[in-house]
Amino acid sequence: MTIHILPETVAAQIAAGEVVERPASVVKELVENALDAGATDIRVEVEEGGRRLIRVGDDGCGISASEVELAFARHATSKIQTIDDLSRIHTLGFRGEALHSIAAVSRVTLTTRQQDEPLGVQIRIEGGEVTLRRQLGTPTGTVVTVEDLFYNTPARLKFLKGATTERRHISAMVSNYALAYPAVRFSLHHEGREVLRTYGTGQLSDVLVKILGIETFRDMIEVIPQQPAHGDQPSIEVHGYTSAPHQNRANRSHITLFVNGRVIQDSSLAYAVTQAYHTLLPKGRYPIATLLITLPPEEVDVNVHPAKAEVRFRNPDAVFSAVQRAVRSAVVGQAPAPAVQLPGFGQGYAPGWQERRERLLQAGTRRRPELGLEIEARESRSRGETIAGEPDDHALTAIPEGPGRPLKPRTLPVLRVLGQIGAAYIVAEGPAGLYLIDQHAAHERILFEQLMAQRAAQKPIAQQTLEAATIELPMSSAALLEENLETLTALGFDIEPFGGQTFRIRAVPALLAGRNPAEALRTILEDLELGTKPGQATLEEQVSLHVCKAAAVKAGQVLSVAEMQALVRQLERCETPHTCPHGRPTLIHISADQLAKEFGRT
Ligand code: ADP
Ligand code: MG
Repeated sequence: MTIHILPETVAAQIAAGEVVERPASVVKELVENALDAGATDIRVEVEEGGRRLIRVGDDGCGISASEVELAFARHATSKIQTIDDLSRIHTLGFRGEALHSIAAVSRVTLTTRQQDEPLGVQIRIEGGEVTLRRQLGTPTGTVVTVEDLFYNTPARLKFLKGATTERRHISAMVSNYALAYPAVRFSLHHEGREVLRTYGTGQLSDVLVKILGIETFRDMIEVIPQQPAHGDQPSIEVHGYTSAPHQNRANRSHITLFVNGRVIQDSSLAYAVTQAYHTLLPKGRYPIATLLITLPPEEVDVNVHPAKAEVRFRNPDAVFSAVQRAVRSAVVGQAPAPAVQLPGFGQGYAPGWQERRERLLQAGTRRRPELGLEIEARESRSRGETIAGEPDDHALTAIPEGPGRPLKPRTLPVLRVLGQIGAAYIVAEGPAGLYLIDQHAAHERILFEQLMAQRAAQKPIAQQTLEAATIELPMSSAALLEENLETLTALGFDIEPFGGQTFRIRAVPALLAGRNPAEALRTILEDLELGTKPGQATLEEQVSLHVCKAAAVKAGQVLSVAEMQALVRQLERCETPHTCPHGRPTLIHISADQLAKEFGRT
């Protein structure tokens, strides 16, 4: 094979691959250009997940008619002059590659006018060739329309995901810029439908409410810039919002970090955020956070990655600890009542406490069965994790399981049930102090983990057959029922349409045994109607959550000691015992130390 220089268009298409990976990358580059142009209003329109069309319009400074062709040339930029400028970058772009790359793999139309020019200009470029250029009247600013992305690079096209996935990436991208630039008005439209709008108030909280929803936002804590740790440190400012410990998620993807207005991927800094919650978060759970980190431009190298998703810090440790300190002080600063801390078992063993507790346990089991303490000694009995067949088990449901199941590892210490308050909370003692357990939340957690384990093991879910009960539903619930019929069947329901909005319930999951089937179904549908949070869990998981909620003991139900004991035994072996499946706490811990302090013993 002879060596030859690649034709210009082929070289451009290859180079474009680095910058334009998917439709969201185009949105990113165009939005960054708009921000660099000083826009206060940015409108993004997308069709078919960006494959058909992406349009970004801004009210920024515009491009001079004499320079529009130049803007599309490779390495053409107005943002830096010399290599030294790279060390003090104040703009999002500087490589002069985006427009060139986008034009190499799509059909681009750019319409623009600079403020002091009487007329604007429109230019169309297809596969790198100018196919149209004309003057026209247009407002100050720039509109770039990108059509048929990757039409001339079939290999790329093949790798694109479905429109829904690409739409999600684009929404996330635009949301991120809206968060980083709260003073800019953003709007995003998919298929002509507005999906996001911000008002440019300059308040991060206003944007965050839009993106997280008011419910989640209520549980966010403001992170306020801290004084630098050492006088000679470069000033690193961290501000934003982070979630209260009980509001947590199963992965790190809800931690969004910005450095000097740029969204960055940095697993070390994400770890700094999680670290700041030390002992406050259950294992394997992560906070939701949006943090804006500002530091002098010469402290960051943004030229590490063509898409600039990664940055390098001159002093990574200083940034790590600045983030950790800011988040930690926000989280600790809002701890509810001074004496009560959220679950942190394993710490706070007071001297002598453990020993006295053991003495108490022994005394109780040997000499004072009338106090109900003998239940503690019968741990082997409640090992089955079901108390079916017990005389007073009417309120508690457990999912029936075959015998011989190995015990799951313990995630909480052994707790000794002391009683119930308000028919809603169980009071218990553990090696590290006093525990208050929310009976409903705890039972929900237990049932949810059992149900998920059965599904994972692909075991059929036990059903209870009923004398068919009929139920008449409002129109919306009936539609919802039909939509979710398959999922409900997989979870153990047997429901058949009985004409109109009437249905016949023939069986329910065994964990709903003892509940009124029609009422349980009605609650599940009502919960479903309230909507599922997008992207949080599979539909089946969502429905399971509602089933568990309906099946769990309610606040207000009086429980016998045996029932409470069984519930606590099961909770002790849940994977995530500290929160209910909705993320609310199941237990509150008051350490032995705190008790001693409250009573003036220290
Ligand atoms: P870079 O942003 O790295 O400079 P681009 O290829 O993205 O490179 O853009 C090239 C140039 O075109 C920019 O430097 C800027 O001068 C101009 N430009 C691009 N988009 C806009 C816009 N929306 N408003 C004003 N000028 C723009
Ligand atoms: Mg750019």
